[in-house]
Amino acid sequence: MQQAYHILNNTYGYADFRLNQKDIIGSLLQGHDVLALMPTGGGKSLCYQIPALVRDGVGIIVSPLIALMQDQVDALLQLGIRAAYLNSTLNYGAVQQVERDLLAGEIDLLYVAPERLLSEKMLPLLERLHSTLGIGLFAIDEAHCVSQWGHDFRPEYQQLSVLAERFPGVPRIALTATADQRTRQEIIEQLRLQQADIYVNSFDRPNIHYTIQQGQQARQQLWQFIEANHPQDAGIVYCLSRKKVEDTAAWLAKQGRNALPYHAGMDADTRRNHQQRFLREEGVIIVATIAFGMGIDKPDVRFVAHLSLPKSIEAYYQETGRAGRDGMPANAWMSYGLQDVITLRQMMLESTASEQQKRIEHHKLQAMLGLCEMTTCRRQALLSYFGEPTPQPCGNCDNCVNPPEVWEAAVAAQKALSCVYRTGQRFGVNYLIDVLLGKDDERIRQFRHEQLSTYGIGTEHSPEEWRNIFRQLIALGYLSVDVDGHGGLRLTDNSRPLLRGEIELHLRKEQKRERVRRERNRA
Ligand code: ADP
Ligand code: ZN
Repeated sequence: MQQAYHILNNTYGYADFRLNQKDIIGSLLQGHDVLALMPTGGGKSLCYQIPALVRDGVGIIVSPLIALMQDQVDALLQLGIRAAYLNSTLNYGAVQQVERDLLAGEIDLLYVAPERLLSEKMLPLLERLHSTLGIGLFAIDEAHCVSQWGHDFRPEYQQLSVLAERFPGVPRIALTATADQRTRQEIIEQLRLQQADIYVNSFDRPNIHYTIQQGQQARQQLWQFIEANHPQDAGIVYCLSRKKVEDTAAWLAKQGRNALPYHAGMDADTRRNHQQRFLREEGVIIVATIAFGMGIDKPDVRFVAHLSLPKSIEAYYQETGRAGRDGMPANAWMSYGLQDVITLRQMMLESTASEQQKRIEHHKLQAMLGLCEMTTCRRQALLSYFGEPTPQPCGNCDNCVNPPEVWEAAVAAQKALSCVYRTGQRFGVNYLIDVLLGKDDERIRQFRHEQLSTYGIGTEHSPEEWRNIFRQLIALGYLSVDVDGHGGLRLTDNSRPLLRGEIELHLRKEQKRERVRRERNRA
């Protein structure tokens, strides 16, 4: 351990270990396997880099983040650490050079993409290395990729159990920043970590202020939020589609901000250039699809904004976690609408995933919607989702700062549900609202829906209010979006007691929340 401190102080120039770093390193130095769950920015890299340097032999790091390997290795080289990487971006000659250096004992840390590690050539090479210089440890980064339940499944990861078979004496550490109980269990099973020491850090990011709001004019709301809270700060704006990324970046640029798009459809050079500018210049806003951000280490991202709904709580947590890594106050802000839910559902239904996978995705989206629509502390809900109960509301989320008003909505819900039922459970929200409002409409007459008892029974609410009601009913599981992918609504098992008037229903009253948060952040 003395040696570990020496490296920490002299090679890295850090005074002390953070969180569980010391204990994790201790376990590996004793030759134990480790499962480490640490929030993004918690300092996972040191947990394997230092013991790999202390132990004899080479440290092998498996990482799916090919785009970042070069940066990681460059940073290590800067510190004087002999690091290299092997992935598909290297040409044949460069690969050969790394392999020669490896066997000549000139590399201490080797980053490898999983598909490369599992290749027919690589495993024998590692065995040769192991019998000569030795392998100090295996680190499996982003270990949640092993989980089908996780949001970032990579089939190659499941084959990494081969490391336990072929290199039984070599300690392995799996690391991840996202692990609900179920993912955690899957990592342990798939990677054969039953004997591992498990370290779980708190997933709380107390400096992040969470806000989730609804609205039809997400872009306007975004601008109000940025102008009021982050007129000069760096931030990330996530959008669902490439087109929305392009449009939003252009629009923010027109408002005078330095905003750059980033998505997988752009050419690699431009992408790299935008990423570098975000990292190096001040006050850049990057507008991105989820393709952006994995492994990005920029400590002073002051806000992460979502212009559409993430597809799971894990994704939301991971994406918002890129804000405020320096520990200073930061905002996680989101605006979403009914259309997001329907679009996401359709994307999921149209995907080629297995039925089981689709069920999992559906379930996860439902949990995410639950987080959006809840009226109590969001942080408590978020942490409890990760198996970390917190006794007190946080005081640093929108619901804590400004508790939402609710209204007794059972009657409205009954009208909405009956309308869904009587029109045959196949129409989308807009049509249903037209029927509820008694609109004189060709299509309605064509289906003879003007003769239904629910025709025109909802005039006490505006179309906008009805949209909110439907959105919440979907989010709360009283309605589901139909499997045909056309956005038709159906009743669910939960609908019946509500229809029969057996339960009360309190829905969130929509309100403007901008001003309150602005004052708070200025204070
Ligand atoms: P993660 O992989 O968990 O997201 P990193 O390993 O990239 O986090 O570390 C996040 C940041 O914290 C990096 O800039 C890293 O250099 C810094 N860091 C890690 N450990 C320490 C420490 N013990 N003291 C000071 N800074 C640290
Ligand atoms: Zn709270």
